[in-house]
Amino acid sequence: MQGLMQDWPLLVHTVLDHARTYHGDREIVSRTVEGPIHRYTYTDLDARSRKLASAMAKRGLKLGDVVGTMAWNGYRHMEIWYGLMSLGSVVHTLNPRLFAEQLVYIINHAEDQLIFVDLTFVPVLEAIQDKLPAVRGYVIMTDREHMPETSLRNPICYEDLIDEGDHMEWPRFDENTACGMCYTSGTTGNPKGVVYSHRSNVLHSLMTVAGDALAIDNRQTIMPVVPMFHANAWSMTFSCPMSGAKMVMPGGKMDGESIYELLDTEKVYMTAAVPTVWLMLLQYLESTGKKLPHLTRVVIGGSACPPSMIEAFERDYDVEVVHAWGMTEMSPLGSLGVLRGGMENRSEAEQFAAKCKQGRPPYGVEMKITDDDGNEMPRDGESFGHLLVRGPCISQSYLKGEGGRIVDDGNWFDTGDVSTLDADGFMQITDRSKDVIKSGGEWISSIDLENIAVGHPEVAEAAVIGVEHPKWDERPLLVIVRRDGSQVSGEEILAFMDGKIAKWWMPDDVAFVDEIPHTATGKIQKLTLREQFKGHRLPTA
Ligand code: ADP
Repeated sequence: MQGLMQDWPLLVHTVLDHARTYHGDREIVSRTVEGPIHRYTYTDLDARSRKLASAMAKRGLKLGDVVGTMAWNGYRHMEIWYGLMSLGSVVHTLNPRLFAEQLVYIINHAEDQLIFVDLTFVPVLEAIQDKLPAVRGYVIMTDREHMPETSLRNPICYEDLIDEGDHMEWPRFDENTACGMCYTSGTTGNPKGVVYSHRSNVLHSLMTVAGDALAIDNRQTIMPVVPMFHANAWSMTFSCPMSGAKMVMPGGKMDGESIYELLDTEKVYMTAAVPTVWLMLLQYLESTGKKLPHLTRVVIGGSACPPSMIEAFERDYDVEVVHAWGMTEMSPLGSLGVLRGGMENRSEAEQFAAKCKQGRPPYGVEMKITDDDGNEMPRDGESFGHLLVRGPCISQSYLKGEGGRIVDDGNWFDTGDVSTLDADGFMQITDRSKDVIKSGGEWISSIDLENIAVGHPEVAEAAVIGVEHPKWDERPLLVIVRRDGSQVSGEEILAFMDGKIAKWWMPDDVAFVDEIPHTATGKIQKLTLREQFKGHRLPTA
C-alpha cells in the first residue's frame, strides 16, 4: 500500500516562502562592502529575489544554467542565492581565496555563464577573465553610484538588473534538480565539484535546525561568519530563514574588532566559524578587556577546535562552544558536540572531554569506522579507523562523474578522516588519513599534539607533521608560531607537553616559523609544510 500524502517537492523557495509569510519582519543585517550597515527584512529579501529572478529570466537564464558568485556574506548574495536557485539555475559559490589557476580551472570546469562579484573581488576576476572564454558577463554587486572603472567584459550593475525585473512566480520542478555547487579545495589533485540538490538542501536544513544540532529558532539572532562560499555557510543560509532567526552578515571584515562590533551592537545569540576567526576574536577581547554579554553559543568547526579555545570561551566569557565537524560533500554538517541528557551528572572533566570531541551525528547522517579491510570497528572510544558516512545530503559522485562513484556498494562514503566513535555516539577525529604520523607501524595523531601545544600561553599557532626517520619511518616535528614578543624555546614547549601525552608521541624536534600556511578554507596546509621541511634532519635521526 502506498502512503496517501501530497507530492510537495522540497524546493528551496519554500524556505523563503515560509520566512516571508511567518517571519516577514525579521531582519537581515549586512555589513556592506561599500561601508554602511544595511538592514531589511525577509519580506524584502523575497521581493528582491523575485525581481532578480525575473530580470535574469528575461535575459535568458534557464533551468540548469550555472551562475558563479564571488561574494561575502551579505543581503545581495542571499538574493542571488534564493532568486536564481528558485528559478532552477545552479548557484556556484567561488572561494576568492583560491589561487588564480584553481579559480580558472573551477570556473571553466563548472561552465559558469555569468559571475556575480562583490566590489572587493573585481580585480581578482579582471586578472583571469582572458582565461574564462565561456563567461558571458559579470554582474557587479553594487549600485550605480559605486560602479567601478573595470576592464571586465560586459559589466552589469546589480541594482540596474534588479530594476529590470518584476514579480516572478516560482516554477515547480523536480526536487532532485541541482541548485548549488561548491568545489572541495582539492588538497590532492584538481578541485572536485560537489553538487547539492533542492531536496538535499531542504533536508539538510531540517536536520540542522533540530535541538541537538544548531537549535535555531525565531527568537534568535544568528551571525554566520563562516562564508556562504564555504559549503552553504554550514546550512545557515537555509536554516535561519527556515526558522525565522534574524541574520547578521559580516561582509568582508572578519578581524576581531569588526566581529566584536557586530556581536555587540546586534546582540548576536549564536555565531559560527573556523578556529582561526575565533583566535582573532579572543586575542582582541584579551587585549581590550571586553566581554561578550549577549553571545550564548559559538559553533566552531572546519578544523579541530583546540580544547584551550573551548575553555577560554566557556570559562572567561560564559559562551557555550559547540564543536562541529563536516565536509563540503556532506552539505556540510556531519556531527555536533552537544552533550546528551544525563551527561550533566558526570564529572566536569568528563563533560569537558566530550565537548572536545567532534560530536554526534544529527538524524540523516549514519557513521561507522572500519579497518583497512573494511571491517567495522568497535564503538569503544579507543579503536580508530576510517570514518565512513552515508545519508540523503551526502555526495555519491562529483560533477561530471570525476573519480567515478565515490561510495561503496553499501552507499558508504569514505571521508578521508581517521576517527574513534564512543559508546555515547561521540565521534573524535584522530587525523586526516594522509596527515596521521606513522611511527614504527603505530599512528600518532597530529591533531592531538597541536591541541596540546597551542594550550601553551606563548604559542599562537602549532602544526605537527611527520618527517622521515631512518629507524621509525616517520617522527613528529612540531612547527610553532610564537605569540608577539615571545622568545619561548622548543625545550620549554616540550616540557609543557610532557605528561600530557604518551612518551613516544613526543615530537622529536621543534621548528619556529613566522607563519603557518593555510588553505582557502582556513585549514593548516600540511602538504606545503611537508615540502618546506622535506629533508629536515631530526636530532634523533
Ligand atoms: P576543504 O576545506 O578541503 O574544501 P572541507 O571544508 O569539506 O574541505 O573539509 C572537510 C575536512 O575538514 C574534514 O574531512 C576534516 O578533515 C576537516 N574538519 C572539519 N571539521 C573538523 C573538526 N571539527 N575537527 C577536525 N577536522 C575537521
